[in-house]
Formats: sequence, C-alpha cells, structure tokens
Amino acid sequence: MKRRNFIKKASASSLGLIAASSLISCQESKKDKIENIIKSNNLIRPLVIATWKTDLAVETAAKVLEQGGSALKAVEQGCRVEEANEKGQSVGKGGLPDRDGEVTLDACIIDHKGNYGAVLGVKNIKHVISLARKVMEKTPHVMLVGEGAKKFAISEGFKQENLLTKASKKAWLKWKETSMYKPIINIENHDTIGMLAIDKKGNISGACTTSGLAYKMPGRVGDSPIIGGGLFVDNEIGGAAATGLGEEVLKTVGSFLIVELMRQGKTPQEACEEAIGRIVNKPGKNYKDFQVGYIAVNKQGETGAYSIHQWFSYNKYVDKVNTHIQSDFFNKV
Ligand code: ASP
Repeated sequence: MKRRNFIKKASASSLGLIAASSLISCQESKKDKIENIIKSNNLIRPLVIATWKTDLAVETAAKVLEQGGSALKAVEQGCRVEEANEKGQSVGKGGLPDRDGEVTLDACIIDHKGNYGAVLGVKNIKHVISLARKVMEKTPHVMLVGEGAKKFAISEGFKQENLLTKASKKAWLKWKETSMYKPIINIENHDTIGMLAIDKKGNISGACTTSGLAYKMPGRVGDSPIIGGGLFVDNEIGGAAATGLGEEVLKTVGSFLIVELMRQGKTPQEACEEAIGRIVNKPGKNYKDFQVGYIAVNKQGETGAYSIHQWFSYNKYVDKVNTHIQSDFFNKV
C-alpha cells in the first residue's frame, strides 16, 4: 500500500493504532514500517482511562499527552490531582485513616519499559505517586515502605504535612463509636485512582494511588501499590488497574491476569469480565459484600471496564473528549 493511501485510509477510519493491528499478519519488517508511519504522522490518539469519576485528573493527564508529554508524566500528573483533592476520602490528603487514626498512603507507577516503583504505608507525604516515581528512577529498589519511604521522601525534598483533615477525623471518630470494620462497596462514586495512558508515541504507562481501605488495621497494605495486583502494564500488550477490596484483587493477581488474558487474544472488556469471574466464582460466593472494579486498555487503544456491583465508573479521554462512563457489572439480580 502506498504511504499516502495508507495514511488516508487510517485517518478516514480514525482508527489510529487499530489500523496497524489489522495489518498485523504482515511480515515483521512491514509491521515496523507501518508503525513508523503512524508515529511520524501522529496517527496515535492519546488516550487516558482512570477509575471512578476523575474528570479533572483525566483532563490534566490528557493535557500532558496532547502537548506531546510521555504517558508516564501524564499518569503522574493526573494522579497528583486526586492526591491534592481533600474532598476525596480514599486518596492522598483527606484520605480516611486506619483504625488508630493515622492516614497511610500506598502508590505505584509503571512505565513503558516495564520499570516499576512503589511506596507503601507512607505517613505525612501527600504526593506518593511522585515518590513512587522517584523510587523507580533514583533507587536500586522497586518498593519502599513506611519510615524508610518517608525518610527517602524527605531527602528528595518532599513536604511533610498532616494528611488527616477535619472531615476525615470526624468520620473516624464516628466510626470509633462502633468500630465495625466493613469495607464500603462504593464510596460516594469515588475511590482509589488507577490510571492508564497512551502517549503520542504509542507508549503505555500506568499509576495507582490510594489511602487504602478506611479503618484498616495499622500496617495493612492492599493491592494498589503491588505490581500485578492494583496495576500492571506491558507496553507490547496493554495495561490494567483495579479498585475495590484489595485482598480479593491480590488473591487473583487481577491486573496481571487481565494483561495476560489480552496477550492470549481477549479484548480488554472480555479480560476484565474474566478477571471478575475469577473472584465471583470462588467457592463460598461471598462477593455480595464487597466491590472490585477493573479498567483495561490494549495497545490498539481499545478499552474495557467491569465490576462486581453496579456504580463502578471510570473516566475516559480519547479524540479530545473526556467522558465519565458507568461500567457494566456482574451482580444484576
Ligand atoms: N484497592 C484499595 C485497597 O484495597 C482500596 C480501594 O480501591 O478502595 O487498598
């Protein structure tokens, strides 16, 4: 196919990378050539997808991508918006504390080269997503926990602050009246943010940041900062992110599972549905008491989302439009 005709065809169908995938059976060298053409003609559509109603975070990430920034920068900048939003009670400042009244944050980030950095159980540092990136880029390790992570943050110039807001303290004191530990299925249409982005070069990165489950035991860590649990990206295939009861995500290695299912040929939607299936089909079927939601994107820019219960939602930016979408779900009875 002549270069001009190919470009015309690809933009006419506005399929971006999908055009490349339909030609995947071509010989390797031909495939490389096509990818180069797509890249040099900006046919890759920047894309962002993030858990829950996260309009501003997604818009912020999209702006980075539209200006030619990397997917890594986009997901970091996007997640920082939620970390700074004191009204969100499950991420960053204002996050609900553990049962002792301490706010502890978890975050991780993955770039298109498969590099990963994470911080777990961090106190007094708001932008843990940036701290996770520093762990990835500036240390020989992939995870730092608790005091060590905080010490590293301070050495990198991060500001220390009280993360417990008046509203979170009030909620915790109220909780203490009964001290009943029961993860809430959907917290006010908002929860942990997991974000995936594709930049103009076609590279995928992901990030995830949370204060974890409200009133958790001190020291408890969920899925969000764990590679393959709350987040996974393989730049050849796609990425996935999770929200909800982290213990259940971890037991099924949810995000890694979704990416591997996509590698085997499933669409992002099919892969998310199967990953939820692995949870709800376990013996005992106790899924009625908790929520898990997944989002996924593949290399072609197709996306998927699925949850156990209704009201999981996500934001998606593509073709310059940022939309808040209700996810399909399993428990329809
Ligand atoms: N997945 C997070 C955790 O288990 C919490 C959430 O998404 O609400 O820590």
